[in-house]
Amino acid sequence: MSHIAVLTSGGDAPGMNAAIRAVVRAGIAQGWTVSGVRHGFAGLLGGELIPLGPRDVGGIIQQGGTILGSARCEAFKTPVGREQALGVLKARGVQGLVVIGGNGSQMGANVLAKAGFAVVGVASTIDNDLPGSDITIGVDTALNIALEAIDRLKVTASSHERAFLVEVMGRDCGYLALMAGIAGGAEAIVIPEMETSPEALAQELYTSRERGKKHAIVVVAEGARHNARALAQYFRENEKRLGFDLRVTQLGHVQRGGSPGAFDRLLATRLGAEAVRRLAAGETGVLVGQLKGAVAATPLDDVGGKSKPLDPALFALARTMSS
Ligand code: ATP
Repeated sequence: MSHIAVLTSGGDAPGMNAAIRAVVRAGIAQGWTVSGVRHGFAGLLGGELIPLGPRDVGGIIQQGGTILGSARCEAFKTPVGREQALGVLKARGVQGLVVIGGNGSQMGANVLAKAGFAVVGVASTIDNDLPGSDITIGVDTALNIALEAIDRLKVTASSHERAFLVEVMGRDCGYLALMAGIAGGAEAIVIPEMETSPEALAQELYTSRERGKKHAIVVVAEGARHNARALAQYFRENEKRLGFDLRVTQLGHVQRGGSPGAFDRLLATRLGAEAVRRLAAGETGVLVGQLKGAVAATPLDDVGGKSKPLDPALFALARTMSS
């Protein structure tokens, strides 16, 4: 192998740049040429490859987002798209690819690996929904951003004796909401994995008020059936009967763009370098992630499209702590 490429795909996550930097510098240390693919799989289909040297990735370890850009690309999911991508890689003399991204992106990586191309994935998504990595690049920073918002809202909630609802990201996976709820001392948490009806939530808030709490913070995952919009509507319509309303804050994309914290920078650096090491060892079709504190590789067959269940003990912990 003498030439590899690296791309970032799916939603951007803080730490992606640190991972790109690690892949480039570790690849160059192997004596290889490294190219960056702009705009994920879409850029791969379009042949948007740029050379990346050690200086090109200087000063990016602390930057959120991804210098390569990311995109969602439906065309890549088709057999024609796959062949086009393989054609571009061959024409540019690329022999190995590192895919930095979440669950969907790793399914894309697996498509290329199955076609015989050398591909290694790097686990990066703020959703933390990837089997093969207990924690993925970007989660810790996103969690800290959510916490900062929750802490601030709590001050106002206490001062005005009000209930606040904070919606955090997480389409299918409530990890971010659950952890932000526990770390932020939320009175209630609503996640896709454990749905709560609006009435049950209202009851929970009511009893917490009866227990002497002067404020209430509810953390909701955007993918929950009763998300911020649905709950706000319910509480508005029933305000008279319930005796209180809910002030809603949707953090949305604010959670993505922050400068990566120490944890994400270190994780990204370790995983990026490991991806290169695996390619150099002739491995393909694996995802590098962190399992039980150590860097580990998992077959992409066991990753893409599979879910990572939340630890039920954490639900119980959240409930006990909100008493
Ligand atoms: P995040 O969840 O953090 O946003 P993700 O990697 O899960 O990241 P997706 O939008 O699911 O984001 O996927 C990103 C891209 O990966 C898609 O736009 C598509 O190009 C590619 N991809 C997803 N699923 C497949 C698939 N089954 N086959 C081929 N490519 C896929």
